[in-house]
Amino acid sequence: MIDSWDLVVVGAGFAGLACAKRAAERGLSVLAIDRQPSPGRHVRTTGILVKEAQAAWPAPPPLVRRLSRVRLYAPSHRYVELANNGYDFLATDTAELMGFLTDETRRAGAEVRFGTAFAGATETGGRWVLDGHGVAGSFLVGADGVHSKVARALGLGRNTQLLKGVEWEFEPADRDGDCLHCFVDPERAPGYIGWVVPGVDVTQVGLAVNDRHRVNLSRFIGSLDACLGLRGRRVREKRGGMIPVNGLLKRSHGDRVLLIGDAAGMVSPLTAGGIHNCYRYGRVAADAIADYLEGDAPHPGDVVRSAYRGDLWKQGARWCYDHLPLAGCLEAGLGASWLLKRFAGKVFFNQFAG
Ligand SMILES: Cc1cc2nc3c(=O)[nH]c(=O)nc-3n(C[C@H](O)[C@H](O)[C@H](O)COP(=O)(O)OP(=O)(O)OC[C@H]3O[C@@H](n4cnc5c(N)ncnc54)[C@H](O)[C@@H]3O)c2cc1C
Repeated sequence: MIDSWDLVVVGAGFAGLACAKRAAERGLSVLAIDRQPSPGRHVRTTGILVKEAQAAWPAPPPLVRRLSRVRLYAPSHRYVELANNGYDFLATDTAELMGFLTDETRRAGAEVRFGTAFAGATETGGRWVLDGHGVAGSFLVGADGVHSKVARALGLGRNTQLLKGVEWEFEPADRDGDCLHCFVDPERAPGYIGWVVPGVDVTQVGLAVNDRHRVNLSRFIGSLDACLGLRGRRVREKRGGMIPVNGLLKRSHGDRVLLIGDAAGMVSPLTAGGIHNCYRYGRVAADAIADYLEGDAPHPGDVVRSAYRGDLWKQGARWCYDHLPLAGCLEAGLGASWLLKRFAGKVFFNQFAG
């Protein structure tokens, strides 16, 4: 017996849940599967929400911490402080947040099954039958992350440009405050930045580098001691993951199948933030799939592609970040900090949304 659904979503992360919830609200029968044993068991992200992400899918106050200032550090650890009245970033208790998002998705009417891994699918009679699960969907969404198995199994595009990110969670300190600390440091974080986030009952410290380099987080943490004093604090958890910065994949959809979120490369090549895009395009995809299954609507992949905000200039900015001596410019710019504040403020407060 095959268990048939209008939509099967592979991956119950930010993108998969946003898509599953919206599709259920549109009246589709929806099954989301995830190989993790339970929501939030394996967190790979820092989990900072930009303001727009919080507006798109509000997280409950106990699961977030408001960060209203950004300190941007040059390699010498001199810094400029940025704030934009009314624009906050939110640190999250990401593991708990995933539980909350799963509950909301279930409440909207979708079934979400954990401990269920996608291994492959065959198209039979106008629907995708999943290998080994006795499950079929009229439409299949691959929201299974940066190394998507759905993409691999069904011959869709793959992410090629990646950053490696590693993060440790320390026990918090009273003086952590409401400031997000970002470190431009081409020696320790070539291709991206290091960060210190006063999170929800933790302090998160991380580093991301381009995939030609090794991440050495201990060395970075050692270098922060003079300004942030992490020595002696207990490390509670360690995590890491890859971040696709190639932009939206050219082949992100096929017959009755569509990739979203990291699987599709929906991450800002400039800021490496992806959660807001997951929420936004997960929802766009769900609406397009509902219209498509009702008949006479364009392929959801084409709808998502035309809605997707071009990341061409962000790829240009990424090239500059990789190839120009921007750390030196930042050091020099600290002397003309009003100009630096204007430029950096624009990147942080207008572009982190994705
Ligand atoms: C270190 C790091 C820090 C980051 N920090 C931020 C940040 O602060 N803010 C921000 O906006 N973005 C951040 N990002 C990016 C952001 O985390 C991602 O863009 C976002 O999590 C992508 O969500 P997703 O749902 O597409 O994929 P994922 O979150 O990767 O979810 C994919 C899901 O698919 C499941 N899955 C995988 N394979 C299978 C399979 N075969 N069968 C079934 N299920 C499967 C996984 O278990 C997982 O639950 C960060 C990324 C990293 C690596």
